[in-house]
Amino acid sequence: MTRPNSARLLIVGPQGSGKGTQGVLVAEAFGAPQIATGDIFRANITGGTELGKRVQAIIEAGDLVSDELTCELVRDRLAQPDAAHGFLLDGFPRNLAQVDDLAEFLDSRGEALDAVIELRVPQDESIARLRQRAIDQGRTDDTEEVIANRLAIYERETAPILDVYRERGLALQIDGVGTLDEVTDRIFASLARRGLTPDADENGDNGDNGAAA
Ligand code: ADP
Repeated sequence: MTRPNSARLLIVGPQGSGKGTQGVLVAEAFGAPQIATGDIFRANITGGTELGKRVQAIIEAGDLVSDELTCELVRDRLAQPDAAHGFLLDGFPRNLAQVDDLAEFLDSRGEALDAVIELRVPQDESIARLRQRAIDQGRTDDTEEVIANRLAIYERETAPILDVYRERGLALQIDGVGTLDEVTDRIFASLARRGLTPDADENGDNGDNGAAA
C-alpha cells in the first residue's frame, strides 16, 4: 500500500569494497533494515555483553565466528517484525554452510531472496582502502596481519558463495571501483533491471537515487 517496495537482498564483497556504505543506502531506499553481522558483533563487544565476550578474540584475529552462533543471531534478527517484508544482509552469509542455513530459514517462511549485490573490487584497491580505514576508524581488526587473514578467508570461504548465487541467477555483478555515487548508481540501475525499484513516492525526495539510469 503506502509501504515502499521492499526487497530481500544480500550485499557481498571483499573487505574494503564499500559494501557497508552502499548497503545502508540501498536498505534505506527500500525501507528495509540493514543487518550487518560485523556491526552487531562489534556493538556486543562494546556493550560488554555475553555474546561480545565470546566473539571478541575471534574477531580481533580476523577469524570467523562459529556458524552456530552466527546463524542463530541472524535467524533471530530476521524474525523481527521490521524484517518481515525485506532486509539487506551485509556480512552474512559468509560461507556455504551459512548459505544453506539462510535458504532453509527463508524457505520455512515461504520467502526467498530477490537479489545478491556482488561488489567487485581488485585486491590491491581493497587493501589500500582498509589501510585508510585503519587510520580513520582505528578498528582493532584492521592491522596488516589481520587484514591479510580476513582477505584470505574471504577468498577461500566467501568467494565460493558467489558461484552458488550466480548459478541460482541471483547475483548482480557491480564494479565497485569509482566514486561512492557512481557505485550507488550502478547498484540501483542493476536492481532496476531486475524490476527491483523502491517506491519513490514513499521516499520523499529520494527519487534521484540513481534508479533511473
Ligand atoms: P569485514 O567485512 O571488513 O571483515 P565485518 O564487519 O563484516 O567486516 O566483520 C567483522 C568480523 O566479524 C569478521 O572478521 C568475523 O570475525 C565476524 N563476522 C561477521 N560476519 C560473520 C559471519 N557471517 N560469520 C562469521 N563471522 C562473522
